[in-house]
Amino acid sequence: MAVQTVHNSDNSADTAASDAGTVDLGPAAALSCRECGERFELGPIFACQSCFGPLEVAYDLPTDAPDELKKRIAAGPDNIWRYAPLLPVPADVASKPNINPGFTKLVKADNLARELGVTGGLYVKDDSGNPTHSFKDRVVAIAVEAARAFGFTTLSCSSTGNLAGAVGAAAARAGFRSCVFIPHDLEQGKVVMAAIYGGELVGIEGNYDDVNRFCSELIGDPLGEGWGFVNVNLRPYYGEGSKTLAYEICEQLGWELPDQLVIPVASGSQLTKIDKGLKELIKLGLVEDKPYKIFGAQAEGCSPVSVAFKAGHDVVRPQKPDTIAKSLAIGNPADGPYVLDIARRTGGAVEDVNDEQIVDAIKLLARTEGIFAETAGGVTVGVTRKLIETGLLDPALTTVVLNTGDGLKTLDAVAPTTGPTATIPPSLDAFRAAGLAR
Ligand SMILES: *Cc1c(COP(=O)(O)O)cnc(C)c1O
Repeated sequence: MAVQTVHNSDNSADTAASDAGTVDLGPAAALSCRECGERFELGPIFACQSCFGPLEVAYDLPTDAPDELKKRIAAGPDNIWRYAPLLPVPADVASKPNINPGFTKLVKADNLARELGVTGGLYVKDDSGNPTHSFKDRVVAIAVEAARAFGFTTLSCSSTGNLAGAVGAAAARAGFRSCVFIPHDLEQGKVVMAAIYGGELVGIEGNYDDVNRFCSELIGDPLGEGWGFVNVNLRPYYGEGSKTLAYEICEQLGWELPDQLVIPVASGSQLTKIDKGLKELIKLGLVEDKPYKIFGAQAEGCSPVSVAFKAGHDVVRPQKPDTIAKSLAIGNPADGPYVLDIARRTGGAVEDVNDEQIVDAIKLLARTEGIFAETAGGVTVGVTRKLIETGLLDPALTTVVLNTGDGLKTLDAVAPTTGPTATIPPSLDAFRAAGLAR
């Protein structure tokens, strides 16, 4: 029965794809403009030709009964490809060389809950467990399939660090050349991880927004021909990878929506696509419809969305980033206005914490749950604490906090305030004198 349904949905996808040319991206039917709704054939385009609004993937979603679809998903691999029927990827995606991220742990964080006074259930979705130790593997894996479908040979990106590493790894595995661009002053862990996979890595003398502007120029130039920029000309596909966080969280909660989610915001893509994913699950009948609140988390040193939220503005005014949370240091976030919409529509909020609070939160999560988060995880945990203190987050409700990266990537942030409790000669007397024996 389930097998039959797979064929049905393949056929309808094939029809859609042949209408749109020869591109087979499974259930993806077209690109549609988020602003004016105009539809375009699937292709490496990212802005509406009528109104310049951002494009997103529109689907022919499966028509299976919810229980059948759940069974199909459960029978899939332990990675994001279990959700292939809901993603812009060909049906045989799992058999292609890719880094196969996802299905990371959803940790029930009872110790952290006790510290923060959360009684309704607190979970950490720990994406440090992905192949290159950040959530970026999800978005890149989808962009790789789009790059394959469109015949690109080089993969590229503008990156705050994690994306460069994810693109390098995915390109190596999938057989693409890669050439990625980062701000020149990133943490050593990020630079090494971006370079180790053997692609070209270019440090740009400027901040992320300069890197991004440079990449936009490169796309329009013959120099960039045949290049798939995962977060620029492949952005509509890339973004869809973040929906898998929504799918996994709900599946891991026993196909239930959480009441509240706390999500870090750089460009805002991840937050907006998690919301898209949750709405799809409701539409497909995979979860029972109920209200959920989405909270955005930023670093005070790069808080354009949080500032706009608190001021009640619809427009996000760009900032010049200065924070230890470099993976979130996007001063001019492309999806900022959509983050504001979602936070307001769902009854959530956008909040920020300073560098000291970020470090404290990294240590709090490590000491309570044994999870070492990168600075972005410190931002979400720190903001969660602040939102509870200010009463915006209800501690009696089920809450999921995202840790999007591994602390080993941002050792610089905690190294100055972390180290041995004591350094002693190898003698029992010295150890006794150190006062550590209990
Ligand atoms: C890129 C990134 C994010 C969020 O990115 P968006 O641009 O908002 O999608 C969050 N955490 C980490 C660690 C990242 O690298």
